[in-house]
Amino acid sequence: MTSQSTTDKTGEASVILMHSEELLNWSREKSMWPMSFGLACCAIEMMQAFAANYDLERFGIFPRPSPRQSDIMIVSGTVTYKMADRIRRLYEQMPEPRYVISMGSCSNCGGPYWQHGYHVVKGVDRIIPVDVYVPGCPPRPEALIDGFLRLQEKIRTEHPLLGNSESDQQAAQDIPLSDNLSTAS
Ligand code: SF4
Repeated sequence: MTSQSTTDKTGEASVILMHSEELLNWSREKSMWPMSFGLACCAIEMMQAFAANYDLERFGIFPRPSPRQSDIMIVSGTVTYKMADRIRRLYEQMPEPRYVISMGSCSNCGGPYWQHGYHVVKGVDRIIPVDVYVPGCPPRPEALIDGFLRLQEKIRTEHPLLGNSESDQQAAQDIPLSDNLSTAS
């Protein structure tokens, strides 16, 4: 972050200068609010990441109970066809800019169900755009934290005033739900 500061008589910094986009990106990356919901066993690891030992709040990551208050969706678990349109609806209820972390093999590609799981979507990116993939079955809390750090890096390179963030470009409506699900199995 490019910044300049002046020092007053007390020796404390009083003015910080930076680009507007840097300020926006900094505020977004330091206050990521994921929606609190889970789908399967990966969600247990996600809960552990929010608990005292790992304490995601020290990164400004604070779970919210409503999609309308959230800017991150963590897809933690198996995405069944029955849940697919619910997940899509929750995503569409989130305000922009919004981001998605796909946590675990099931969400990334179908996981252990990739071949014979007739009921499982073979990757949540068939129904919503994904920003970061966290590998593992299940990923440990450290891996999820790494996913958040990667997402912070991505947000840092965006240009919100130009309206060209990748999430905006890859809007959910560009991914037709019925077409992807009908070809997914
Ligand atoms: S990736 Fe593994 S741990 Fe995660 S939901 Fe699928 S089966 Fe469970």
